[in-house]
Amino acid sequence: MKLEEQLLERSENKCELCQSGESLKLYEVPPQSTSTEDNCIIICDKCLAQIEKREELDSKHWSCLTGSMWSEVPGVQVVSWRMLNRLSNESWAMDNLDMMYLDEERLAWAKAAGGLDNDTDTVELHKDSIGGILQTGDTVVLTKTLDVKGSQLSAKLGTVVKNIRLVENNTDQIEGKIEGQVIVILTKYVRKQG
Ligand SMILES: [Zn+2]
Repeated sequence: MKLEEQLLERSENKCELCQSGESLKLYEVPPQSTSTEDNCIIICDKCLAQIEKREELDSKHWSCLTGSMWSEVPGVQVVSWRMLNRLSNESWAMDNLDMMYLDEERLAWAKAAGGLDNDTDTVELHKDSIGGILQTGDTVVLTKTLDVKGSQLSAKLGTVVKNIRLVENNTDQIEGKIEGQVIVILTKYVRKQG
């Protein structure tokens, strides 16, 4: 079964935010590299237009968040949190945000995309040369020929490095194996594949 069909079944052919049944679309909650049923949701055109800021925020419409914020679907939680933040000049939205609980991972995800008017925290993420989010296990391509000190290693532009690891507490660095040797690579010299 295709992902979209799976999600339509989960949502019972309704927008997972406002329950509307009209013009439903699969929304890939950004940022993401692989679409899964956790990070994709079904939403209607009206919700999408406001999420993407093509239409003005209609706070009445978003009273639906009072329900959707309790969804068990991670993507729905994250989008609800983001929209509540954009509505934080409304007292009901603030009250809901106070009640809402996201674990650390989901909170980082929720904060990771633009569109938050009241966003103050910056999230530490490993990003490639064009801003793509990198994760452990990703495959990257070198966008620059690297000089590996004290080695004959050929880390030429275009070299594919599979199964990278993120260097903890340093979002500028990842580790990857080239010709059997693990080296530290700067994220600004790689681009994620796939
Ligand atoms: Zn909707």
